Amino acid sequence: MIKDKVVIITGASSGIGAATARLLAARGAKVVLGARREKELKQLADEIEKAGGQAAYRTLDVARQSDNDDIVSLAKQTFGRVDVMFLNAGLMPNSPLSALKMEDWHRMIDVNVKGVLNGVAAVLPSFIAQKSGQVIATSSVAGLKAYPGGAVYGGTKWFVRDFMEVLRMESAMEGTNIRTATIYPAAINTELLDTIRHKASADSMHAIYRQYGISADRVAEVVAFAIDLPDDTTVNEFTVGPANQP
Ligand code: NDP
Repeated sequence: MIKDKVVIITGASSGIGAATARLLAARGAKVVLGARREKELKQLADEIEKAGGQAAYRTLDVARQSDNDDIVSLAKQTFGRVDVMFLNAGLMPNSPLSALKMEDWHRMIDVNVKGVLNGVAAVLPSFIAQKSGQVIATSSVAGLKAYPGGAVYGGTKWFVRDFMEVLRMESAMEGTNIRTATIYPAAINTELLDTIRHKASADSMHAIYRQYGISADRVAEVVAFAIDLPDDTTVNEFTVGPANQP
């Protein structure tokens, strides 16, 4: 059940994270919003509260362990516990390897990989102690299928897939009752393409999204479904995208 669950959402200042926060709050969850842009977080928290929901927010850079620890502390101080950690922050500065955009490669590893590790490290002790919890992570269809321009991005999202599957297996073996769900979105209209700094890569992705892109609200529905399942049930992997995208 979603109602009254305390859900931390990283990457909540736009796109999939913001859409998920709105939907979960409307269904009675207490949402804790994290990202780097404070103004957007505050606006969203205000909007949720005006609509009768409950929200807290904190600026966070998922690449910093202490920020992840602090958002877990905020959730506990404000709402008493954490039930769900939605590890969703990410960026996709695609480029061909020959362009040697090494700064972008490292940034993707810091945010898309280390951000997930840091978030799990921050919340796992609480989940183990309370013998319940759910970790949901946003991978990508790029984590299932390679494509030119997406070598490092796809690699970070492959990592998420593997990591989440091992988390699921170990949690089951250790009897900690931690559920996992990994989301693999295809073309979803968000601010993600703004992170691409290689013009030809940006142009080709914009063409795909113009043709196929659907609302982030659709992904929010999938996250809500995963949370809403009974606590003894997990659906591990969701591929979600435009019905007409090949
Ligand atoms: P957006 O760019 O709209 O959202 C990305 C979010 O991540 C923003 O809230 C951004 O906030 C946050 N973020 C980026 N860097 C950091 C950081 N260092 N610390 C904390 N937060 C950070 O794009 P989406 O909503 O599309 O992206 C959400 C997730 O979905 C990503 O992991 C992305 O890879 C994945 N995805 C998206 C697809 C799509 O088609 N849109 C397809 C497949 C996967 P801020 O800038 O304020 O920090």
